Amino acid sequence: MSEDYSHLRFQCQPGCTVCCDREGWVYVTDEDVLRISEYLGMKLADFEQNFIYRTKKTARLRVPKNANCTFLSEGGCSIHDVKPVQCRTFPFWPELIGSRRDWFETGKWCPGIGQGGLVNIETAKAQADEMAEAYPHFYEAK
Ligand code: SF4
Ligand code: SF4
Repeated sequence: MSEDYSHLRFQCQPGCTVCCDREGWVYVTDEDVLRISEYLGMKLADFEQNFIYRTKKTARLRVPKNANCTFLSEGGCSIHDVKPVQCRTFPFWPELIGSRRDWFETGKWCPGIGQGGLVNIETAKAQADEMAEAYPHFYEAK
């Protein structure tokens, strides 16, 4: 991982939902599943059946037709307070804070990258660690 973080500026832009609209899976941890189902007042089994797709190693939100995420509403994320680790820690993912090139590549579509003041690197690293711990099979070989 690069030790030069002097390029890390980020400020999420009010009203922006670009990252939620992009193609791609939203992976969830067991804690995410529990938290979100409780927030929605749903039984865990019902929530699983309706919203979660599991493979042997992963669990992710099911993708609805004509949208990328069930929980994206006009006002933004409808489960903002309990959103998955992946959503909460973006863009401070290990692969992004560890690569200047990938950080700026992501900044081509995330309007918050490059905005605001310098990021507190300890906070960013803590979020990257949380991401790596939440989805270990994505990072164990890296
Ligand atoms: S992280 Fe970036 S793409 Fe996502 S809402 Fe914030 S500014 Fe927009
Ligand atoms: S769960 Fe919320 S933050 Fe995550 S992709 Fe869906 S709408 Fe966006």
